[in-house]
Amino acid sequence: MRKLDDWLGSEETGEPFTHCICCRLPLVEIAEPWLVNKEFQRGECVLEYAICQPCRDAITDQICEPSKLAVRGFLEREIDWEARIHEFMQSHDLTDRFVNCIACRQAAHEAVGYGISALYDSGGSLVAGPLPLLICQPCITRMTAGLSTESRAVWSRFLEIHFPGPAGEGGFPGFL
Ligand SMILES: [Zn+2]
Ligand SMILES: [Zn+2]
Repeated sequence: MRKLDDWLGSEETGEPFTHCICCRLPLVEIAEPWLVNKEFQRGECVLEYAICQPCRDAITDQICEPSKLAVRGFLEREIDWEARIHEFMQSHDLTDRFVNCIACRQAAHEAVGYGISALYDSGGSLVAGPLPLLICQPCITRMTAGLSTESRAVWSRFLEIHFPGPAGEGGFPGFL
């Protein structure tokens, strides 16, 4: 069983994330919350990063309003937050959040791919709210279906800048 630290740490270093992927500042030194996002394909982590709130906001500011509405619409329509939060409260093990998809309930180990997101507060404590969560690849596809071409380009640019190389097909814009 993967432990919480394994889920939320860097697969590359085996340690917790230490720096924001955009501004490169040490996460513990900036008085801001941050997100950890990872994407898995066939059980392998294909994309991982931590991003601080100001950098995240700077990117989401470039996403057009209709695209944001489309994503928000999916999150409100397709996720039974009341039921999910209730389930989360029953469990004291945050790794339970990574057992199945927040939206369709597909088991993560049966999914071709999925993304996970977690939020840390400015003091570096994991926040247990709507996040952490896991969302499967088909639901990510449906969540991002309403993104405009321009908004998709914002995400591709983020990948190009921070993950140079041939990969570049990450599908989980976890900071949207
Ligand atoms: Zn940053
Ligand atoms: Zn799903």
